[in-house]
Amino acid sequence: MGLVERLKDGEDVLIAEGYLWECERRGYITLGANIPEVVIENPGLLKGLHEEFVHAGTDVVEAFNYYAHRSKLRMIGREDDLERLNRMALKMAREVADASGKLMAGGLCGTLEYKADDPKSIEWVRSMFKARNSGHLHELIEWVVEEKADFIIAETFYTFGEAMLALETIKEFGHGLPAVITLAPHASNETFDKVPLVEACVKLEQAGAAVVGLNCGRGPTTMLPLIKEIRAACKGPIAALPVCYRTNEDSKSFQSLRDPMTGELLKYIDLACVHCSRTDIRKFGEAAKAIGVNYVGLCCGNAANYFRELAESYGRKPEACKYSPNLTGSTVFSEGADADWYRYFVG
Ligand SMILES: [Zn+2]
Repeated sequence: MGLVERLKDGEDVLIAEGYLWECERRGYITLGANIPEVVIENPGLLKGLHEEFVHAGTDVVEAFNYYAHRSKLRMIGREDDLERLNRMALKMAREVADASGKLMAGGLCGTLEYKADDPKSIEWVRSMFKARNSGHLHELIEWVVEEKADFIIAETFYTFGEAMLALETIKEFGHGLPAVITLAPHASNETFDKVPLVEACVKLEQAGAAVVGLNCGRGPTTMLPLIKEIRAACKGPIAALPVCYRTNEDSKSFQSLRDPMTGELLKYIDLACVHCSRTDIRKFGEAAKAIGVNYVGLCCGNAANYFRELAESYGRKPEACKYSPNLTGSTVFSEGADADWYRYFVG
């Protein structure tokens, strides 16, 4: 069954994301430009990560073609690798999805190049999604279709106009594939072009997106209130994919988090000190399910142990549950732990 049928049947769809940060953490992507060179340079590592997320309970294998668009590759002098990288990413995801009976999705992502008052910038972004009058005969959406994705994810949009452009382009060139469109919420409850996020989701749904919602930008605590509003305003399936960082009222986005020890603003390289706990992720899953989020996942900071936690909170039992924590085997934290040892370790 495809994405739309599953959601219509009342099934939840779980999706593991966060490939970029996880590959960077493992030493296979340069933090900064964040370009998925790992697809070409270390395909085995990436394939293993897809399989790891399947093991941990994802229903969707998302091709890692995030940021693999013309502008980004030009930035590092690899524009010639554009098609090869995209097709490799898509084929790999298809292969893992077929081997495990999962859905496969290809993606488009938000750029920082779309400017609402600059028609040239709009035409450029459009040409990167799918060529028109740009001299590029093929581009992202066409490759996603040719490599047999089950649906298209257009995600991490900061600007409503760009999200709508992505949806329109998918409708035009996507051969009827369903589109999941998600916006990235940051410090404000509005998009960069000043559309309230909730209203933006309603408009995207009305314009034909199969699923609308939020990904990236905010952690569970600061994303959930918006998700509640989106649930109340939208009629169809909604998506929530927070980053796995402890955002809060003072620091709503992960870019605004501070070091708990020094109070200094954290750069990306130091975010490990504000990572969510597994319990945070479980609580997020329980809350999202209660709200009625039927397309749920985790974005930047995700790892297989977090994803298993999310899957369990949605009532799933993926293979990785065979090794879910069982603290009865722990010297310190089991119920009947020896009191002397407990004092020694805990104080
Ligand atoms: Zn993210």
